[in-house]
Amino acid sequence: MTETAAPVRWRSADAVAPPVAPVLETRTAMLRGLRGICPACGQGKLFSGFLSVSDSCATCGEKLGQIRADDAPPYFTIFAVAHVVVPGMLWLEKAHAPDLWIHAAIWLPLTLGLTLAMMRPVKGATIGLMLKLGFGRDAGRT
Ligand SMILES: [Zn+2]
Repeated sequence: MTETAAPVRWRSADAVAPPVAPVLETRTAMLRGLRGICPACGQGKLFSGFLSVSDSCATCGEKLGQIRADDAPPYFTIFAVAHVVVPGMLWLEKAHAPDLWIHAAIWLPLTLGLTLAMMRPVKGATIGLMLKLGFGRDAGRT
């Protein structure tokens, strides 16, 4: 006697239905945020100002304004900028020991420039990651 029937996969009555929409990849969400576009759809604008997040995406309606990154983007920005500036500053001092005004003339503008250049992309990437992780979403949504 041989078994010819295909195996039946058991599903609990409480099983969650598989998602209908394609799953948003973490990398994709972060790269879209990094570029300043909506992490959910990749079409709309993420920001309404330099660092102000749009209340919602004009294209897909994702409620981007509910995702509160708070202090995380400045922290990540400071962390990254410090890893560029401090070793460079220490190297310059050790190798050439320039006057203090030369240090100030190099490192202060570099620090300011890197910080201003990185704050918006870092905030966008953080919001993309938070969107992927479900931050700022209503309790009933998945
Ligand atoms: Zn969108």
